[in-house]
Amino acid sequence: MSAISVRNLVKSYGDVRAVDSISFDVPEGSFFAFLGPNGAGKSTTISIICSLLDHDSGELKIFGRDVNDPDVKRDIGVVFQDPMMDPRLTVRENVTVRGCLYGLHGSDLDAAVGSALEKADATDFADRHYGKLSGGQRRRADIARALVHGPRLLLLDEPTSGLDPKTRKHIWDMVMGLNRGSGMTVLLTTHYMEEAADADDVVVIDGGRIVAHGTPSELKEEYSTDRMTLVAKDADEVRRRLESEGIGFEESRGTFSIPLRTTLESASIIQLLLDIVESYEVRMGTLDDAFIRITGGQGE
Ligand code: ADP
Repeated sequence: MSAISVRNLVKSYGDVRAVDSISFDVPEGSFFAFLGPNGAGKSTTISIICSLLDHDSGELKIFGRDVNDPDVKRDIGVVFQDPMMDPRLTVRENVTVRGCLYGLHGSDLDAAVGSALEKADATDFADRHYGKLSGGQRRRADIARALVHGPRLLLLDEPTSGLDPKTRKHIWDMVMGLNRGSGMTVLLTTHYMEEAADADDVVVIDGGRIVAHGTPSELKEEYSTDRMTLVAKDADEVRRRLESEGIGFEESRGTFSIPLRTTLESASIIQLLLDIVESYEVRMGTLDDAFIRITGGQGE
């Protein structure tokens, strides 16, 4: 079953078509990344999925049910970029308040709070005031709060934005663990391409439209190119041999850059130039390259 099924979803703010007829399915248990530059429509889509925002047209089902079905709310945990936690309360108190809102009480509530704090790796600072936490700790506290009612689907809007690389990795690993360890479906948005490399499925959105959709390797395969870079001992001769074989290249001060149709093609090129090459390397196409090609280079 699909955790999320979206068909021809449209949402405009006045003249701005923030979401322009997008369709996709998020399989249950998958880790799904929504990638796109700022203003692409990612937050708008997440807000519609968690029924915070109405859509203009199109269809949206969460675990097969209408998004406005009251039971759907229990299935979803969501973390926005600017969560509204009370800074004067401790993390545990904030998470407990949220649990109460979902009708939990007594020992069930305590157990749910304990479990959510543990899953989000927030136990160490659970009794500190939210307002006193570091950025990474806040993010973990936010995630604990989103988990307290035991959702099957976790939505995260740019969970790693504004954090340093080490903290980003920590948050990322924790969220990945929730997905891989307990089978929770995760949909998150990011504008960091290298993060999307770990996802099962990536949707690239730009200007409110889906411009690419596939696994990270499919996107790399389709949109990025492996390249061979070589430093010539004899640039004139390298140029002559490449031209006579009809191999395309770019040249800058004795360094040649050759786009490869396949990684294996590098072997025959080296064969051809072995005696006149100082050094060489083959660089595999990356998801960054693919993203830049797909979105025309507007990402970071
Ligand atoms: P992203 O999350 O990918 O950065 P958003 O969904 O926030 O993109 O925004 C998509 C587009 O909709 C942008 O052009 C943005 O300026 C516009 N937009 C977002 N929220 C509003 C709003 N409340 N009112 C008017 N325009 C908005």
